Amino acid sequence: MAGIFAKIAAGEIPSYKCAESDKFYAFLDINPLVKGHTLVIPRREVDYIFDLDDDELAEMVVFAKHVAAAIKKAFPCRKVGMAVLGLEVPHAHIHLIPMQTEKDMNFANPKLKLADDEMAAVAARIRENFEAEGK
Ligand code: AMP
Repeated sequence: MAGIFAKIAAGEIPSYKCAESDKFYAFLDINPLVKGHTLVIPRREVDYIFDLDDDELAEMVVFAKHVAAAIKKAFPCRKVGMAVLGLEVPHAHIHLIPMQTEKDMNFANPKLKLADDEMAAVAARIRENFEAEGK
């Protein structure tokens, strides 16, 4: 049975979509550390990121690079940080987090509570920049 992230990528469960391609999908983390915190997943359901094929992992990182560029345009920051945990959801994913300081990458920080319309607006800003880049 498909897991929650596979269902999100298939459009069977709603998400705040930021970007997509035939193989990958990006959407807002529902409990963001900062505004613009985004997850990148392969549509193919694999639990551990380092179990992905070499080519798929390389393509996923390149896709994440373009999503990060869109995040940085939408939410100016010093850099977009990249983290992989995967302890909660068994579907490989990369966290992309706009950083002003290294503290923004601390997963023990309290999560933001954004209203539905604000989450939708955040995703729309990232999506517009991703689509403008034409990747
Ligand atoms: P981890 O597996 O430790 O990398 O954590 C999973 C991340 O997925 C957490 O930051 C959650 O807030 C996030 N998450 C869990 N369910 C959803 C969902 N339905 N939509 C968006 N993000 C989610």
